Order: sequence, then C-alpha cells, then structure tokens
Amino acid sequence: MAHHALRFAAGTDVGQRRKVNEDSAFAGPRLLAVADGMGGHPHGDVASRTAIEVIVGLPLTDDPAAGLAAGVAEIADRLDDLVREDPELAGMGTTLTAMAWDGVRFAVAHIGDSRAYVLRAGDLIQLTRDHTMVQSLVDGGQLTKEEAARHPRGSALIKALQTGSSAEPDVFQQNARPGDRYLLCSDGLSGFVAPEEIRETMARAASPADAVARLIELANEAGGQDNITCVVADVIAPSIAPRQEPLTLGAAEDPGLLARLGRRLRRP
Ligand code: MN
Repeated sequence: MAHHALRFAAGTDVGQRRKVNEDSAFAGPRLLAVADGMGGHPHGDVASRTAIEVIVGLPLTDDPAAGLAAGVAEIADRLDDLVREDPELAGMGTTLTAMAWDGVRFAVAHIGDSRAYVLRAGDLIQLTRDHTMVQSLVDGGQLTKEEAARHPRGSALIKALQTGSSAEPDVFQQNARPGDRYLLCSDGLSGFVAPEEIRETMARAASPADAVARLIELANEAGGQDNITCVVADVIAPSIAPRQEPLTLGAAEDPGLLARLGRRLRRP
C-alpha cells in the first residue's frame, strides 16, 4: 500500500460521578494512545500520565512493535522508580493502549481494558482483548457474553501496568486501509455505550472531531459513571491530510498534578 496519513482528534471528560480525571491520552501524526489510571488504588492519574509521557518520548525505530514493547517495560520501570521516591504511590497502575503509525500499518501495544477498534466498510471490529476477569471466563467458555455484561466484578483487571507486577502487554500489527477509522477509548465509553451505538456514531460522524464529541456525549448521557476518553483517527491520502499539532489530554496535561505530587513528595 502507498503511504497514507492520519487525520486525528481526541477528547477526554471527567464524566458525571468522578471528581478527578485519571485518564490520559495522546494523539499525533505517528502515535495514538489512551491510558486509564486504575481505580481502587490512589494516584491512577500519576500512573496514566507517566505511561503517556514515556510512550510519547520513545525514539522512532525501524521496528515500531519492538519499540512499543520496550516502551511498556520502561513505563513499568518508571512507575517502580516513583514508588521508591514515594512509597505512598505503591500499587498505582494504569491501562495502556498505544498504536504507532508508520504510514502503512500500526504497531499496537495493549494492556488492561482500554480498547482499540476499527470501523472498516461499515463494521466495527474490536482489535484488542480486555484483560479482565470476565473476558478470561468468556474465553474459557465459563461465561456467555450476555452473562459477562451483567457480572458484578466484570471490570476487575487481571493485567495492567502496575507497580510491583511485571508488564505483559499484547503486541501486534494492524494493517491499515485507506478509509479506515480507528477508535481508542477508555472503559468510560466502552463500558457504558453499546457497541452498536459506537459503530453507528463512528459511521455517521463527518470527521474524527465530530466522532469524539458525540461519543463523549453518549457516555455522559448514559450516566457518565467514569472518566471518558476517546481518540479517533482516519487513514487518508497524505495530499489531503491537514497539518495538525499533537494533542496531550487528561491527567497528562493537568498542570496541577505535578504540583500536588511535588507538595506530597516534600511533606516530611
Ligand atoms: Mn476507566
């Protein structure tokens, strides 16, 4: 395939129930990424921000899949470093779904329950598999998809980028086609908005920015139970690609976060 370009947009919203946005995201011409700071432990915002900072700072390599895998290992190291500086951060964690674009295909690294989808020829295809307890039960045939949706501990993660545990991401390639529309999202969208509604919204939206805005609106209309983050990118001919600045969103762009963390680190 001839080389193509991305037209991208991203948005994040704290939702209706949470006080803090612990999601982070990045969208640029060569990289799309979503990280969702784990609930149930404090400082998920620090973890998701760290994941995005490290992945954005990776050098470009000839082997983007290997680069992303190394990046995930580096995030795990960085999180452990932070805990050594401040033991109160122990246990913090984040999901990460990252897609590196080389003009022809994506390398994907995925850990946790954020998701990547592609809308292709009108179908919405989920590219990632949730690292959740229910997904593993569904895979093992112990639960149906319908039972899984009603499971009380449905969203419990069995893998994440968490301090004190090894990072084992899924890493794979996704061949792109012109006309593909990609979505990366946190579970604040995919946990509350049905796949058919996501599909329809992705198919109808005139642009990635329209898709992002409408998807976030839908999650809020469904109750906004969690932080909501969406990154949408179209694969298009380079001749019609707009010049776009990279976007950094959520906890990763919160100027107050490091100040709050700094104050805590200086506390006797
Ligand atoms: Mn979430």
